[in-house]
Amino acid sequence: MPAKIIDGKAISQQIKDEVFQKTEQLKQRGITPGLGFILVGDNPASHIYVRMKGKACEEVGFYSLTEKLPADTTQETLLKMVHRFNLDPDINGFLVQLPLPKHLNEDEVIETVDPDKDVDCFNPYNVGRLPSGQEAFAPCTPAGVVELLLRSGYDPSGKHVVIVGRSSIVGRPLATLLSRKGRGGNATVTLCHSKTPKLERFTKQADILIAAIGSPELITGKMLKSGCIVIDVGQNRVDVPKDENPKGYKLVGDVHFSSAEKVAKAITPVPGGVGPMTIAMLLLNTLRATERRVKHLKL
Ligand code: NAP
Repeated sequence: MPAKIIDGKAISQQIKDEVFQKTEQLKQRGITPGLGFILVGDNPASHIYVRMKGKACEEVGFYSLTEKLPADTTQETLLKMVHRFNLDPDINGFLVQLPLPKHLNEDEVIETVDPDKDVDCFNPYNVGRLPSGQEAFAPCTPAGVVELLLRSGYDPSGKHVVIVGRSSIVGRPLATLLSRKGRGGNATVTLCHSKTPKLERFTKQADILIAAIGSPELITGKMLKSGCIVIDVGQNRVDVPKDENPKGYKLVGDVHFSSAEKVAKAITPVPGGVGPMTIAMLLLNTLRATERRVKHLKL
């Protein structure tokens, strides 16, 4: 029997609906959550991502503000803008869209974002709080994966989760979230990477396999345990003939879908799996940031 599809679009819509309702309640008290974006340069993908995030803000009733800076912006100008967002009372959370042009120091920029407004959870202060479970925010893609598992009925508690990929934005924080105590945690986690010998030996043991590699269709059905759950974080553009797609490319995951769905019990598609969850979690983090501020200021 083919695997059940874990519908990230539907689950992310559920989260957006919840954020919309809570936003309505806040608005009745005169408070509107605000999410800001700083966009430097002309990277087309970054412009698309920021536009999508801005549109998501509209859907849930947030105020949003995008400031664009030219590609030759100096570090000083960018840091001034970050400070401006830090101090803006209408902005409860914001992010500087990455990657930045090469001449800019990304680490310094990330460290300058006020941890209380760091809804991407990239500031080392927030990253450092993750293992304790007392964080303000969890990073959006890893938190989205955990939420996807919980809301589709596959609680990772007590399961062996094998993650392939150890990046600081996906694999590593995901391993932390899944292995800590509490909701969405209590899994036994194996973290694999490019130096893991005989990858299949590990992936075959997974009750839940999570691929965050950036390598199209690397994980095939024969590398999986029968009845496992597969979460594909990968988003890779591969070239296809124009008669298949007029754009000349299509989006595929890190998992070879057609062979994996024959072995797995449930699987996320690409697109429509983890992707939409990332933006939903960004909105949820901004709502949390707003609620924390309201509580702190006793508004
Ligand atoms: P990354 O920084 O390039 O990290 C890739 C990881 O995969 C590294 O840890 C690397 O190992 C490991 N790896 C590479 N080749 C491997 C192999 N043959 N066997 C085992 N491990 C291997 O990538 P990332 O930023 O984490 O992104 C991963 C994927 O997720 C990409 O397709 C990206 O587009 C996608 N993504 C999606 C979202 C979303 O919203 N859905 C968000 C972020 C990323 P080493 O550490 O040893 O080099």
